[in-house]
Amino acid sequence: MNVLVINCGSSSFKYQLIDMSREAVLSSGLVERIGEAHGSLSHKVAPGTDKESVFRREQPFPDHTAGLNAVMELLVDPERGVISSLKDINAVGHRVVMGGEDIRASCLMGEKEKAAVSRLSALAPLHNPANLQGIEVAQSLLPHAPSVGVFDTEFHASLPPKAFMYALPYSLYEEQRIRRYGFHGTSHRFVARSGARLLDKDPDFFNAITCHLGNGCSITAVENGASVETSMGLTPLEGVIMGTRCGNIDPAILLFLGRNGNLDFPVLDSLLNKESGLKGICGLNDMRDIHAARARGEARAQLAFDMFCHGIRKYIGAYCAILGRLDALIFTAGIGENDDQVRAAVCADLGILGIAVDPARNAMRSGRPRAISPETSPVAVLVVPTNEELAIAQETVAVLAAGR
Ligand code: AMP
Repeated sequence: MNVLVINCGSSSFKYQLIDMSREAVLSSGLVERIGEAHGSLSHKVAPGTDKESVFRREQPFPDHTAGLNAVMELLVDPERGVISSLKDINAVGHRVVMGGEDIRASCLMGEKEKAAVSRLSALAPLHNPANLQGIEVAQSLLPHAPSVGVFDTEFHASLPPKAFMYALPYSLYEEQRIRRYGFHGTSHRFVARSGARLLDKDPDFFNAITCHLGNGCSITAVENGASVETSMGLTPLEGVIMGTRCGNIDPAILLFLGRNGNLDFPVLDSLLNKESGLKGICGLNDMRDIHAARARGEARAQLAFDMFCHGIRKYIGAYCAILGRLDALIFTAGIGENDDQVRAAVCADLGILGIAVDPARNAMRSGRPRAISPETSPVAVLVVPTNEELAIAQETVAVLAAGR
């Protein structure tokens, strides 16, 4: 069974065609700058096939339909194609960011479900409309292939009210559904399950703290395989410091800036989401650049690094208190998978929590799931590469098998 996974943004989308009989990626790529004068398409035919290649084309894509049409042509192209007909795409799995309280599990995207995604756009204005557009386009171009929505929020549907409520007037929850939803759920679930498998433990009796540290960063407490706390909230702005997002701040800062700085909502939005975080402190948002600046002795880069790691440590301590028993601390995503300096600083002197890192294991580079704690450590510290596309494809197959 071949599943096409689509992750749609407002002016771009990523895709992967996965042969689920082998869980092997046949083709993957990225269409960018949709709707602009100069668009681009990068398309990769996966290693292991006789057509292995990377291909980049610059051309305008007036809309998502044009972009997806170009991808379809490449997938069946006599030279670069990996399937002989579009009928060989058996299903389409879509990343959808916000399922709210209405959609708590992956599901077939019929009219009712699409209406719910559209309604929930108020809570995720940057993502849900684009995700919905991807679903509509795929359904019109591939009418034979069922579309399944896999939601960032669904893994966090198990949060108890004491974790998802904000201490605001209750009517804001009742009338506007203002609460913590959490994000990166597909990744947190994937690495928690992979971590349990790596340690030969039952995923349903596995307690972990999963740290998704990429451009966006979030931390989740997983109890018996289910999310019980997570750092992102109503939006992906809450929680730890990120590349350009501030994470937790005193909410009164907004009132102060609004009153005293005369800043309006669009300016505040951009300030918090695009000009803050690591970038706000030192002008750099890529951790590799921050290490280079630290090596040059730049104090602000050191401060940004220290603040980043300090904030993650606070969450680890808090989530240990919530879980009571911890089997594993798991690092994933761009920084979590690649950055031994961040992992070492986050785990330093956490013996009180049973957490330690073996320096040689931590320094080893690998694309495979692995333990970086000493053999005798009470808590396993793991690096588990996330694979959201594969997770979406697996969910798609599961939904179709269950007829959900
Ligand atoms: P992601 O959002 O998961 O793709 O992660 C992207 C981020 O990961 C980048 O902005 C970098 O900060 C970070 N990153 C990627 N590769 C490395 C690396 N080798 N070392 C440190 N950080 C990295």
